Amino acid sequence: MERTLIADTIEKVGETVLVKGWVQTRRDHGKIVFLDVRDRWGIVQVVATDEIAGKINSEWVVEITGLVKKRPENLVNPNLATGTVEIEAKSIKVLAESETPPFPLDTEGLDIDEELRLKYRYLDLRRPRMKQNLLLRNKVVQKIRNYLLAKDFVEVETPILTKATPEGARDFLVPARLQPGNFYALPQSPQQYKQLLMVAGLERYFQIARCFRDEDPRADRAYGEFTQLDVEMSFPTQEEIRSLIENLYVEIVKEVFPDKRISKIPFPVLSYAEAIEKYGTDKPDLRADKKDKNELAFCWVIDFPLFEWKEQEKRWDAMHHPFTAPKADDIDFLYLGNPKEFGKLRADQYDFVLNGFEIGGGSIRITDPKLQSRIFEILGHSPKDIQTKFGHLLQAFKYGVPPHGGIAPGIDRFIMAALSEPTLREVIAFPTSASGRTAVMDAPSIVDKSQLDELGISIKSKRPS
Ligand code: ASP
Repeated sequence: MERTLIADTIEKVGETVLVKGWVQTRRDHGKIVFLDVRDRWGIVQVVATDEIAGKINSEWVVEITGLVKKRPENLVNPNLATGTVEIEAKSIKVLAESETPPFPLDTEGLDIDEELRLKYRYLDLRRPRMKQNLLLRNKVVQKIRNYLLAKDFVEVETPILTKATPEGARDFLVPARLQPGNFYALPQSPQQYKQLLMVAGLERYFQIARCFRDEDPRADRAYGEFTQLDVEMSFPTQEEIRSLIENLYVEIVKEVFPDKRISKIPFPVLSYAEAIEKYGTDKPDLRADKKDKNELAFCWVIDFPLFEWKEQEKRWDAMHHPFTAPKADDIDFLYLGNPKEFGKLRADQYDFVLNGFEIGGGSIRITDPKLQSRIFEILGHSPKDIQTKFGHLLQAFKYGVPPHGGIAPGIDRFIMAALSEPTLREVIAFPTSASGRTAVMDAPSIVDKSQLDELGISIKSKRPS
C-alpha cells in the first residue's frame, strides 16, 4: 500500500490508509489508546486498541494502517488541520524506538540551554518553530534562484580551498599536505573569483555562497561560516544593482512573508553622512514602531568613506574592501592629495539595511590596475606583497576587463531579521555555537599525530585532552 501523507488524510474519509511518522504523544484510556502521529506535513489522531499501542512512547517511529473516520461534531479538534478526522488503527508496526528526548520538542525552545540544543540539533529541529524556519529559508533561496535565473544570471560555484580574500576578518587556514608549510585559506567571500568571472565575460553571476570568517562570535555575526547571496554584474550602474536587489526583496517578502509589511517602497536612500547625522549609525532602524514584529524597514546607505583610519596600526584600511572604486571625482586626490585627508574620500559603495541590521553590502569595483595598485599601496602593502597576494587579479585586468560591480546580501541575517529571531543560529540548520563548537559533531577536535606528521605540523602549546 502506498503511503498517505498525514495532511492528506482529511481527504480520505472512509478509506484505509498507510501513514508513517513519529508518535508525538500517547494518551491511555483503558483499552483504548490515542496516539498523535506526526510527519513533516501534519499531525493526526490515531485510535488504537492493539496491545502494542500501549507500549509506544513519544518520538518512536511507526507505520500505521487504519481506516480514516470522520469525527463526531463535538469531538472535532479545531487546533489541528486534520481535526475533523481520526484514524482507527488496524495494524501498527514500530520502525524505531526512541529514548526520551533530553528536552521538550513541542515548545519554542528558546529557554533551553543552547549548547544542549545544539548537541541534539537533530531533535531540536523537530520543534515546529525550527522546522518552519528551515522551510522558510528554503523558500527564500528558491525565490532568489528563480528571480535571478529569469534575469539570465548564471549560478557558478567558486573554490572553497583558495587564497585569502581580504574582507576585514581573520582567515581560516588549511594546511596543504602536498606543499608542506603552505596553506590554503577558506574564502571570506568569493569576491576575487566573481570579479574574474566578469573578466571571463559571464556578465551576470550569482551564487548562494558559503563564506568563512574567523570573527569573535556575536549575535548578528556567525562565527565561522555564513551564507550570502553573492552577485556581480558587468556594465552596471549603482542604481541598477540596487534596484535589482530591491525588487528581489520586495518579491521575497510578498511571496514568503505575506504577513510582513514593508515600511516604504522604493526603499529610502541615505548618504552615509546623513545616516550618521540623523541616526548616529550607518545602519539605521527606520521602523515607525520598533516593537512591531511585522514591519520591515529596508533602506540603502550610500556614499561611504573609502577609507577608515586604524589608530592601532596607524594606517588607512578599506571601509568595504580594497576592490571598491572611489567616486570618480575623488580619484585624482589618491595620487595628488595629502594622505592625512584620505578620510574625506568617498567610495562607490552601498549598504543594504533592514530594521537596524546591515544585511548586505556592495560596490562598483576598481578595474584600472594602476588605481588598484595605488589602493593596495595606501593600505600598507609593499610592491612585493601586492604581487604575491593580488598579482593574479592585476594580471587579469590587463586583458579587457569590463566595468563591473556587485553586492552580497547575507541570507542568514535577512531571515533572522525578517523572523525577529534573536540569533543567526535560529535560522541555520547546524550552526556553530557561541563558544565556537560545531553542532552535534563538536568540532574542532584534536587529530592523530600521524596526520600532523604528514602535514609537517607540530603543535607548540600543550593541547587540551
Ligand atoms: N564581497 C563583499 C562582502 O562579502 C560583498 C561585495 O562587495 O559584493 O561583503
